[in-house]
Amino acid sequence: MAHPFRLYSTLTRDAADFVPQEEGKVGLYVCGMTVYDHAHVGHARAMVVFDSFVRYLRHRGWAVTFVRNFTDVDDKIIRRANETGEAPLDLANRFITSFQEDVAALGLIKPDHEPRVSTSIEDIVAMIAELVAGGHAYASEGSVWFSVGSCPGYGKLSGQKVEELQNPDEGSGKRSPNDFALWKGAKPGEPAWDSPWGAGRPGWHIECSAMSRNTLGRTFDIHGGGLDLVFPHHENEIAQSECANHAPYSNYWMHNGLLTMASGQKMGKSLGNVIGVKTALAAFPAETLRLYYLQNHYRSPLPWGDDALPEALAMLARLYEAREKAEAMKGDETAQMVARDLGPDAQALLELLQGFEARFYEALDADFNTGKAVGLALQLARALNRFSNHKQALKRGGPLGRQALAAFEHVRAAVGLLGMSSADFHEEVKAKRLAAMGVSRADVEAHLAGRVEARASKDWARADAIRGQLDALGILVMDTATGVEWRVRLGAAE
Ligand SMILES: [Zn+2]
Repeated sequence: MAHPFRLYSTLTRDAADFVPQEEGKVGLYVCGMTVYDHAHVGHARAMVVFDSFVRYLRHRGWAVTFVRNFTDVDDKIIRRANETGEAPLDLANRFITSFQEDVAALGLIKPDHEPRVSTSIEDIVAMIAELVAGGHAYASEGSVWFSVGSCPGYGKLSGQKVEELQNPDEGSGKRSPNDFALWKGAKPGEPAWDSPWGAGRPGWHIECSAMSRNTLGRTFDIHGGGLDLVFPHHENEIAQSECANHAPYSNYWMHNGLLTMASGQKMGKSLGNVIGVKTALAAFPAETLRLYYLQNHYRSPLPWGDDALPEALAMLARLYEAREKAEAMKGDETAQMVARDLGPDAQALLELLQGFEARFYEALDADFNTGKAVGLALQLARALNRFSNHKQALKRGGPLGRQALAAFEHVRAAVGLLGMSSADFHEEVKAKRLAAMGVSRADVEAHLAGRVEARASKDWARADAIRGQLDALGILVMDTATGVEWRVRLGAAE
């Protein structure tokens, strides 16, 4: 039984109870990458948001068909290929491989379908032919244009007046400035396919109309993508699909907000402020990015700065450390007995645990509010930490610890955080942060060995001096009951 949820749609500018096209099923189409370069952390927001959304839906009992396309035929790809001297499709394939590496490194679910323009030409040509036959498109000088004036309701997604909109597609033969290209006549050096209108290649927008119809049908549930795609891309998809199919297109439009720079700029190649996914993942575990993206509501703009990932990592470490504390707690009394005996922090933790599951899903069920859901997980981590300071927490906290582990398991299953073992997490943090800080592991270990030696010979001054040297390198040394442990110092959280 699939759990109901509410979803905001850009089309209605309102959140409403989600009504599926087919009981228990969700068809989700997300616009993917135009593959002319490596993905950056701005692209990864959409990838992670929709990955988490699919996890959440499946965890809540929905049968999801998830489609994300590749735009592998495009002006930008052709331009870039001319610069590098590659064939455009070779260049696109190279960046599809790069993207798939990022998908794997980010730990993302593989979509059920990943259609590409270059292998969907037949579907695209068929749809253009339907639009021409229906009087919604016209061929002119080897290209085919969509006639915006033929489409009642054009502009409904972006909510602007048609007179104020203008499609950026240029070319001779277009009858109105609003019209946009469905098929572009072949030019020398460009990839081209045969069509009833001569050799050429698809315009940008038609691919998603054709690919979504081919994978999800004429009318489907949710269309997703970045907020920057609302106009012209998504507006044009609606026009093409509804005019060709004589049926509503996507029932809900889900747009993620963009990353904003401190300067208020957008992240973009041309602005020289791009951080690649590979660069970010060399320095931080993948869940750091996931937490960074999920800490805000998906529709809100998300500030990006030098502190963004260090702060997210500190928060993530807090979650892992809280889970470790919960795992370590022993004892078989009832939670109520423990809470009664061990003071206000135990009581506060129990209260939080009792409401956790309901509040966590209430947040996600209300337009996928991951910011609120992640906030609850961090609140739980704080309460666990406070309780763990009680001298009997380890010995008697078991019943609270087990409830906390169940709560953290909801976080893992629903949004994909806390998916690693603690040991793997700490190991990856050490490896990646040391590399990013330019500190060699051998150096850290030599210092630690020197400190053990100094302590063994009761040379406390030397032991302290070494601790100070490690501290200066960003390494924290902890003497525990079972021996010496060390961690990399993380950025300040909250
Ligand atoms: Zn698209």
